[in-house]
Amino acid sequence: MHSTASDGTDAPEALAVIAAREGVSAIALTDHDTTAGLLAAARACANAGIEFAPGIELSCNPRGVSGWHPQVEHAPPRKLGTLHILGLFVRHDDPKLAAIHQRLLIARSERNPMIVDKLRALGIDITYEEVESLARRLGTQIIGRPHIGQVLVEKGVVATMKDAFTQYIGEGKPAYARKDLLAPAEAIDAIHHAGGLAIVAHPIQLKYADPAELEAVIVGLKSLGLDGIEVRHSDHREEHVALYAHLAARHELFPSGGSDYHGTRKPVLLGGQRVPVTFFQSLRDQWRARS
Ligand code: AMP
Ligand code: ZN
Repeated sequence: MHSTASDGTDAPEALAVIAAREGVSAIALTDHDTTAGLLAAARACANAGIEFAPGIELSCNPRGVSGWHPQVEHAPPRKLGTLHILGLFVRHDDPKLAAIHQRLLIARSERNPMIVDKLRALGIDITYEEVESLARRLGTQIIGRPHIGQVLVEKGVVATMKDAFTQYIGEGKPAYARKDLLAPAEAIDAIHHAGGLAIVAHPIQLKYADPAELEAVIVGLKSLGLDGIEVRHSDHREEHVALYAHLAARHELFPSGGSDYHGTRKPVLLGGQRVPVTFFQSLRDQWRARS
């Protein structure tokens, strides 16, 4: 799940309280690009009697994986999917992760004003100062498209966050700008350096053409050190869960799962995914065995 340290709307401490209320026994905080919320979340989980996996979510360049062929010659170009790698059980103060955090901050600070410039060129009344001011108000360093979307909603340019993405800032839309992304090998290495396990997040978002292409991507990621596959996720239907569980078993990867709760930013509930506690226990045992 995500907190106000990136693009969630609940403070890291609050997540433990909600989890306890919802009867969830273990949670992972995986903010985008940052470990800033982990200490506070860990303390709150200890107080609430909830098991905690300190994590991070890193956006990676899907072109950095073998097996991935979104642009077959002579075929119309296909949208590139989203490749996010989760680190679970990472040390919050690992220097390699900190260096990546700094790089990604720079990438965001270059990409975000480009999005605002494109919106302005479309005649929309928005300034980057407004986006920064919202981020300051929310207490986050990690400024992302959801913050730009929120400004668009607050100013009445669009009615909902979904509209902001489908009309303007989603991939392929007129104000979209891609940020420089990490190579998956770098993300996996940094997660391992921080003592964590590397899990491919929400495979559905890879927008693979068919299960064979997904399997090739998984094999490519495994050759880079991947440890697991997020099997249960709010975007996955039962048929996806079955496919990802099958691929995890076949390639000796750990299954994981979560809601990807972002507070009020997404129509997803904390505890909305009933993930078997054995997923958590196996990941934790593997992490302990390695450390
Ligand atoms: P960024 O990392 O700044 O490119 O922002 C990506 C984030 O935007 C994702 O992690 C999601 O939380 C959010 N997002 C992406 N697509 C949508 C969408 N169609 N509707 C709402 N939120 C979205
Ligand atoms: Zn993600």
